[in-house]
Amino acid sequence: MKPHEVYRMALDAALAQAEKSLSEGGIPIGSALCTAEGVIVALGHNLRVQTGDPTAHAETVCIRNAGRRRDWHTLVLASTLSPCAMCSGTAVLHRIPVVVIGEHRTFQGREDWLAGAGCRVHVMDDPRCVGLMRGFIKKHPELWNEDIGVPPRAGKRTPRGSRPR
Ligand SMILES: [Zn+2]
Repeated sequence: MKPHEVYRMALDAALAQAEKSLSEGGIPIGSALCTAEGVIVALGHNLRVQTGDPTAHAETVCIRNAGRRRDWHTLVLASTLSPCAMCSGTAVLHRIPVVVIGEHRTFQGREDWLAGAGCRVHVMDDPRCVGLMRGFIKKHPELWNEDIGVPPRAGKRTPRGSRPR
């Protein structure tokens, strides 16, 4: 598999996780971790609504599901949405060298941290990922704001670290 085929496959696996979370009434963000050759090693999706754990973001759950490993520095992490500060930090901590992002139109995470740590960031700008998040945010704005730490009644001010378009 060529690198771009691996990235596409990993993003498709992450998207299936996002759709699974949505079907459970959860936040539709999914993640997948795979080898550079395209073998999936772990999957995960946001579990905040399902479990009440505010740190259970898709990427964090996926990395947790991967368990103890010594090959983080060789893996590819895919997420349907630009990884937030916590998830970008987790990827940097584990020295994951490639992060594939479905979209960053509905939320801008800390891609700058990833890039600053030497991580290769590939934004796929996938319309399926954009549509999933846009539909969810429109339907459940309060649930989404809770996910990214926007205080209640913050009005229309753009929260730090997000860049709605
Ligand atoms: Zn996150």
